[in-house]
Amino acid sequence: MQDCIFCRIVRGEIPSSKVYEDDEVLAFHDINPVAPVHFMLVPKRHIASLADASMDDAGVLGRIMALAGRLAREQGSPEGFRTIVNTGRIGRQDVMHLHVHVIGGPKPLGPMIVRSAG
Ligand code: 5GP
Ligand code: ZN
Repeated sequence: MQDCIFCRIVRGEIPSSKVYEDDEVLAFHDINPVAPVHFMLVPKRHIASLADASMDDAGVLGRIMALAGRLAREQGSPEGFRTIVNTGRIGRQDVMHLHVHVIGGPKPLGPMIVRSAG
């Protein structure tokens, strides 16, 4: 997608701090980290969100999940981490290119979500 910010990162038009790359997947550090370890795994092919994924995407999504643990360990989160996939308006997704956040570090994270009214 021409104007998609993560497609532009995949194409190298916007610089990123790369964690991992193969034919189908790119991982890079979040520009605004919320913990000592915070990077994202994205499919190189544009998929807008998890709500838009289909069985055609099963391979690359499996690859992303299978890579998360190894990359988290390599990045300094040896005893676990949190994966987050914000999806659509309700999930407060800001960048409409599917991405799996991997968040962690040496110490336990805060609670997963703040309870919202309604
Ligand atoms: P979302 O809210 O869509 O799940 O998360 C989008 C994430 O993308 C945010 O955590 C934000 O910091 C990150 N982000 C937005 N623009 C850029 C960018 O240009 N480069 C990098 N590395 N991260 C970005
Ligand atoms: Zn994209």
